[in-house]
Amino acid sequence: MFESFLYAYSDNILLLLYVWILVFVFGLVVGSFLNVVGLRLLSGESIVFPPSKCPNCNTKLKWYDNIPVLAYILLLGKCRYCHKPISIQYPIVEAITGISFLFIFAWFGFSLITPMLWILVGACIVMCITDFKEQVIFDWVSLPMIPLGLIFSFFNIGGIENEPIKVFGFSIAGTFVSAIIGIAIAFAFFELISLLSKIFIKHRAFGEGDTVIAMIFAAWFGWKVVILTIILGLLVQAVFTIPLLVIKLLKSKDKVASISFAVLILSAVIPMICNRLDIFYSGILSVLLVIVTFSAAIAGALVFLRRMRELNSYTLLPFGPALIVGGFLAVFFYQKIVSLGMF
Ligand SMILES: [Zn+2]
Repeated sequence: MFESFLYAYSDNILLLLYVWILVFVFGLVVGSFLNVVGLRLLSGESIVFPPSKCPNCNTKLKWYDNIPVLAYILLLGKCRYCHKPISIQYPIVEAITGISFLFIFAWFGFSLITPMLWILVGACIVMCITDFKEQVIFDWVSLPMIPLGLIFSFFNIGGIENEPIKVFGFSIAGTFVSAIIGIAIAFAFFELISLLSKIFIKHRAFGEGDTVIAMIFAAWFGWKVVILTIILGLLVQAVFTIPLLVIKLLKSKDKVASISFAVLILSAVIPMICNRLDIFYSGILSVLLVIVTFSAAIAGALVFLRRMRELNSYTLLPFGPALIVGGFLAVFFYQKIVSLGMF
């Protein structure tokens, strides 16, 4: 996607460093605001009016208690007044925002892309906070990112390779057409799977928020990026969910769930091993292997998901944050990931 790294806008290293520090501090401050936005959306409080206070003892905080990250470190993670621990969420969100803002600035420098991506990142961070805490994504945070992305694509602000396409005699930016196709792919993928999962296991596999997140990445970066976003999102989710799931299954000692989960994993691993070792590389045996493992995977998945529904334990981790991480990996490392030859 974006290939040029370290936008050279100054030969003066000190000046460069100074600007970078300013941008990083600006990101920290924005991060501290995003914390407030996320938490007050969940609690239904006004975002602007009530001054920040300790959620435990309700003491109004002094300005120096609000200094991002630094205040948390100096106070050793405890409220100055009641000495109850402050949530680690505050400095983490602040640091992530600061680092992302600096990263985007280092990549694009003084161009229109920088503030636009800052807005996108900010909205995504708020979505992650609310999704992590209560598995909700607020429409007024997520939905505006779709038209904003379409504007980004329409004017090709990202400066991505772009051949205009003629539609009914009008010349339209290739990036815009790609965005529209991507939105359709994202919508079709998530809604189709959710529809099927509703029929077979009576539970929506993905939340509506996940569909919107995929549509956002499509609107901004086109159909190729959104496909990679979905693949990477699923990988990121698997990396974090599978260990949690194994621990949970071992604790629950549920035979049906454990065996069906083992079948599901084995049916994915065995073909990979056979492929590596050149076993059943060709001929009737390989066809047989595909049929057997594919049926085993489907059977294992269906039994496992039904059992999990009976045990009432579907959501271990929300999918939104994984999808967002996958999305930004796809945006910034598209060429590298594709050239690995995995996709
Ligand atoms: Zn307190």
